[in-house]
This record gives sequence, structure tokens and C-alpha cells, in this order.
Amino acid sequence: MIKAHILGYPRVGANRELKVALEAFWKSAPGEEARHEAALEQTARQLRETHWQKQIDAGLAFISVNDFSCYDHVLDHTVLFGATPPRFGFAGRPLQAQDYFALARGNAEQPALEMTKWFDTNYHYLVPELSAETEFSINAHAFLLQIDQALTTGAELKPVLLGPMSWLYLGKSRDAGFDRLILLPALCAQYAALLSELKLRGIAWVQIDEPVLALDLDARWLAAFADAYARIRDHRPKLLLTTYFESVARYVGAVTALPVDGLHIDLVRAPEQLAAWLAALPSHWVLSAGVVDGRNVWRNDLDKTLQLLQPVAQQLGDRLWIAPSCSLLHVPVSLAQELSVDNEIRSWLAFADEKLRELQLLQQALNHGVDSVAAEFQAARKAIASRGASPRVHNESVQQRLQHLPQLSAERSSPFAERRLAQQKRLRLPLLPTTTIGSFPQTADIRASRAAFRRGELSAEDYTLAMQQNIRHAIEQQLALDLDVLVHGEAERNDMVEYFGEQLAGYVFSQYGWVQSYGSRCVKPPIIYGDVHRPLAMTVAEARYAQSLTSKPVKGMLTGPVTMLQWSFVRDDQPRETTALQLALAIRDEVADLQQAGIAIIQIDEPAFREGLPLQQAKWAQYLAWAVRAFKLSASVAEDSTQIHTHMCYSEFNDILPSIAAMDADVITIETSRSAMELLDGFGEFDYPNDIGPGVYDIHSPRVPSVEAMTALLKRAIEVIPVERLWVNPDCGLKTRGWPETIAALQHMVAAARQLRHEK
Ligand code: GLN
Ligand code: ZN
Repeated sequence: MIKAHILGYPRVGANRELKVALEAFWKSAPGEEARHEAALEQTARQLRETHWQKQIDAGLAFISVNDFSCYDHVLDHTVLFGATPPRFGFAGRPLQAQDYFALARGNAEQPALEMTKWFDTNYHYLVPELSAETEFSINAHAFLLQIDQALTTGAELKPVLLGPMSWLYLGKSRDAGFDRLILLPALCAQYAALLSELKLRGIAWVQIDEPVLALDLDARWLAAFADAYARIRDHRPKLLLTTYFESVARYVGAVTALPVDGLHIDLVRAPEQLAAWLAALPSHWVLSAGVVDGRNVWRNDLDKTLQLLQPVAQQLGDRLWIAPSCSLLHVPVSLAQELSVDNEIRSWLAFADEKLRELQLLQQALNHGVDSVAAEFQAARKAIASRGASPRVHNESVQQRLQHLPQLSAERSSPFAERRLAQQKRLRLPLLPTTTIGSFPQTADIRASRAAFRRGELSAEDYTLAMQQNIRHAIEQQLALDLDVLVHGEAERNDMVEYFGEQLAGYVFSQYGWVQSYGSRCVKPPIIYGDVHRPLAMTVAEARYAQSLTSKPVKGMLTGPVTMLQWSFVRDDQPRETTALQLALAIRDEVADLQQAGIAIIQIDEPAFREGLPLQQAKWAQYLAWAVRAFKLSASVAEDSTQIHTHMCYSEFNDILPSIAAMDADVITIETSRSAMELLDGFGEFDYPNDIGPGVYDIHSPRVPSVEAMTALLKRAIEVIPVERLWVNPDCGLKTRGWPETIAALQHMVAAARQLRHEK
């Protein structure tokens, strides 16, 4: 019998139950903590039970255990192996709930662990903080409680562990020169202990995730795999080594030499690797074929998948397992409650629960013949055909515009030096101009107005008035602060992608399609199902209103094509590049309209530009070429005197500086404050040609930095970038902050800029 299984199930719950319980606990009033903690524990237990039941109902061979987490699975492993950084003082004692969350969110004494993106997803993990002082001591109580809870279901369990190589690779050390591989033997000893404990409990299989195999590993790291797995080879359950997000075929030799019992490969992202693995698979290994897309929401073409699998099943027999390509963490829970998405589009989609069903159907077809599930296959066939032929997917005028794209120049009319003069003349900004990144606090008031509007309790007119009041308030505050370039504050946007997606044709929105971003934070990525275009202006009314309140320039504020793409579920029936270019044309139309309305500065945010980079460097150049082109196409309608800004965050930029320069934005603002301007060094060395605004304070924390702190950062910046090309701004939007700290921090920022202007 061919087995079906999943690598992991979404954690937050169909109604974000985990988020609710977490936030209630974090906000507990004194004396209430214990009650909320118990409630959180109860919610977590219930969610796990629900997830397991779904896997049982879908006839999966195993239920996945330890894919659940109350915050982040990488953090869970850090805690499990007792590798919390010494600065927290937690070593050697069992962690309380508040300790666990202190690592994730910081506490009064210590900042949180660094957070960063999980490969090329929009999920964030907490980076293990490693040093020569790192010690391990297993702390498996919570882990084993989950195992015991799972055992009560009577189902076969498959615990999920992040592998030692990936945990170590994803960790970081502050001391340059520290070699984290030194920690490997001690770390593996912990894994060995844990695995033997699992064997004692009668567990047959453990899933050990080594997603770093999707990356470019150097010879040392690759060699360390052999060392690590040799250290955990005895007294353990069988190991299924799981890889995802890319092909791992180039490591065929190294991987097949590992003492494990099976391999999972992602055949959605990298179908081309199948042949290599079929040729090399050790005769006692199972091959878990990741054939249902764990990163996207489209219904599986069951016929096609079955065709792919049948010969594999013939070759491998029971040694073939089938699975989603990766953990289902990256897709929403269920379509069952998505009643607002119309039936036709809905029939094209599959969220986590529907994917479980697809696995079940594929498994049945493989084991008992497709006739045993003929009706379901027929339904899938119908949906796939309807999607392929639907006039809602294909738009003639968009297609035509794309055909003429090669004739459309993506260049601005003049080089930066000339544009700069035209802009100086028009804008008359001082040295070291001050600005912000776009959003101002999204107050409870704003959210209440939006909710009331969505429920139909507030008319469109009243909603517009309410938003105008917020815009006015933001402008007044900025005038009082004496900032040089203002923003309207983005009150009308709950999200920088959703806001545009809702106004663009080709997008559809789920109502409950939440996906975990980090901790309790979820995003609801919109779904691009068809050719994208912009029926009507999207931001002009707000921009015009804001500009009418002041003679200082107010930036028009747009989300760039790459970020729109990156933060949406994207069509899988055409290359990402094509969708990006369609988005670029839509944004380009908006830039033209803003310019027409007299807006002198337009910011096109691309915070996700870097995260779009392929995991393997060999594929970078191709991505960067179309991503840069998409950005430039959206910006190149701007006349010389219209200043184009872009903004990027969370990024290490040094390795893609030529592409960032090629985007040719007049001004780029970047997040730098947390890395104390080190980032800027790269821009300096590269001789980045245009204006640049390195963030001078971290908006992710409510702390108000002093004038001195900001002046010091700016002085450092002046050492690497000519002062004439520097801007002064926070490192990202202020939507998550409150007004009082925002004003205090911006006062300091303006004061810092003034002080330096005087010194020049
Ligand atoms: N303009 C957006 C804001 O200020 C940019 C957000 C971002 O970089 N993620 O909120
Ligand atoms: Zn940002």
C-alpha cells in the first residue's frame, strides 16, 4: 500500500484560535496570567487534536506531531535542546511560558531573538543565537507531552523534527569568526537522546526536516551532514529526511550516502529532480513524493499527478509515499467557510483541508485504481478545465498590452543627475530632508471605522470622511513636527497589498484565508487568479486630499509589482514574471494618474524585493532581470521632475546592490537601524549613485531613541554616503506604533537632522 502523509499542518486554527489565545495571555492583567495560560494550553491541545483528527479522517498513514508550535518551530527546537542564549539566564532550568515568549518577543531586560524569513516564504522564524558559550541540555517535557497526547489518538505518529544541520545553519553568531559547526557534536548528542526516547515509545518513523539542502551549501557544510547523521544513526526510529522549496538533486551523492531510511522531495517546485532520485535511491529507502502544492492554493490536477506517480509506483511499490510538497503551514486552513468567493473561482482552489482530501484521492487511485474515485477525479477535471478556459482568467486587452511590452521603454527619460536638478528646482528641499516611510499609527479608531464600513454600518461617504479626518490629523502632526516631505499616513489601508489587490482586476480575496507570518501575526494573502489590470485610479483621491492640506510635498504611496506578487498567492498557469509585468503596468497607470494630479513625489514600496530571490544563486540573475524591469516599468512614466522613491526592509542588500542601483529610483529608503548602519557600508563601497535614506531608528520597538543616538547614526552615514545624497527617516512604516511614541521619536529625528545641517 502506498502511504500518504503530510509534513505539517497549519497551526493557527480555522478561526485563528491560537492567535486569540496567545494575545489574551500576553495581555493578561496581573493575577490573571495563570488562567490565561491554562486557556492557551487548552487551545493548543484542542487545535492539535483537531488537526490530527483531520489527518486520520483523510486516511493518512501517520499523524504529524510537533509540527504545532505556540510561536515558532525553530524557537521550539532551541528550547527543546536547551540552547537559549546565556543573556536570558534560562539555561539549566525548565522554561515557564513567559520565558518562552520572552525569547520570542523580548522582555524588560532583553531584546527578543532576531527574527527572519523562513527561506523564500513569508513565515518568520526566530534565529538561534549561537556562540562559543552555547550549551545544550535537553528539555523535552513539552515535546513529550505532545507525543503522549498524540498517542491517545491510537493513530500511528510521525514526530517532526527540524534536523540538526538546518537548525545550526539557520542560527547566527554575533562573534565574527565563530564557526557554528563546532557545536555539531554536542547538538547531535541531544538529537540522539531524543530519538532513542522516541524509539522507546514505539515510534516507527520520525520526519527530520533538512530544508537547508535546498540552498547552496559549501563543501564543509555538505560534509558535516555525513558527520551529523552518523552521530544519530543508532537506537532510533526510522528517519525520513525531508527537503523542500527547491531541487536537491545536485547533492544526490551526499544525500544517498546518509544513514537514513527515506527522502522527501518537492516535486511541485522542482519536478525535474525526480529522475535523478529514482536512479539513485538506495534500495531500502522510501521516496516521499511532494506532489500537492504546499505553497499555493490551486486545486491539484489529479490526472496529471496520477500520471506522474503511476510509473514511480510501479518502480517503488510500497516504498513510494505521497505528500504535499512542503508543510501546509503556508496555506490557509479550509475552503469550507469561504462563502464569499464565488463558486466558479472557489472550485479552482484547495486550502489545507482540501489538500488532505486530494492526497486521499491520489492514494486511493494508486492503491485501488482510479475507478474507485472516479466521481472525484471527474469533479477535479471539470474544475481544471473551467479554470483553463475561463474568460475571467484571460483578458484580451491585458494580453495585447503585454505583447507590446518590448516596445515600451522601462527607462526614465533622463539620467539621475538631470532628474535631480529638475526635482531640486521643483521641491526645494533642505540638506538632509526628513520624511517617513508612509504609514502612521493604525489606531483603534481607524480599525473600528473600517470594520463598521465593512459590516455596512458606516456609509461609503462617512467612511471617506472618517479617513479624511485621519489624513488631516496625520498631516497636521507632520507639519507641527516640521518634517520636509509628508505622507498621507495610509489610514485607509489595512494592508499594503490587500488594499491594491482589492482594486485590481484579476484578484480575489478569501475571508478567512489566514496564514501565519510570525507568532500570532497572520496575513491573508490575496489570490491572483487572472490577468491583472487596474479598472480605476486607486490612490488618487486620498493623495489629492492630503496634498490639498499643505504646500509641502506629500508623497503618493504605492506598493510595487514585485511585492504585490511576492505577498499574494500567484497563478501557477503562467510564469511569475508575466504576472509581475501585468502588475507593473497596473502600477504604472497609477503613477501616471498621481503625476497628472500634481503629486510631485511617488513612492513605490518594494519591501519584498529581496525575498523574491531564488534560493539557489544560479537562478538569481534571471529573477533580478525581470524584477528590476517590473519595477522600472512601473516608475518610468514619471517625468524628470517627479521624484520616485522606493522603500525596502528586512534585507541584506549587499549582494544585490547592482540590481538595486539598476532600479534607478531617485531615492531609496532602507531599514538599517538594527544593524547600526553596517548595511550602508555596502552602499558606500558600491558607490550607490542615487539618494538614500538609511533608517535612523527602529520602528519595531516602542522605545524612543535619543537625538544623540540618531545623530550618531547619521554621522556614520555621512562617512559613507555624500551628505547631499542622504535623507533622514525611520526604518519602516509606523502603522504598528502609537501616536505618542511616534511623535516623540520623530521630534528627535527632526532635531537630529537640524543639528547636522547646522554643522555642515
Ligand atoms: N509604506 C508602507 C508603510 O509605511 C511600507 C511598509 C513596509 O515596508 N512593509 O507601512
Ligand atoms: Zn519597511
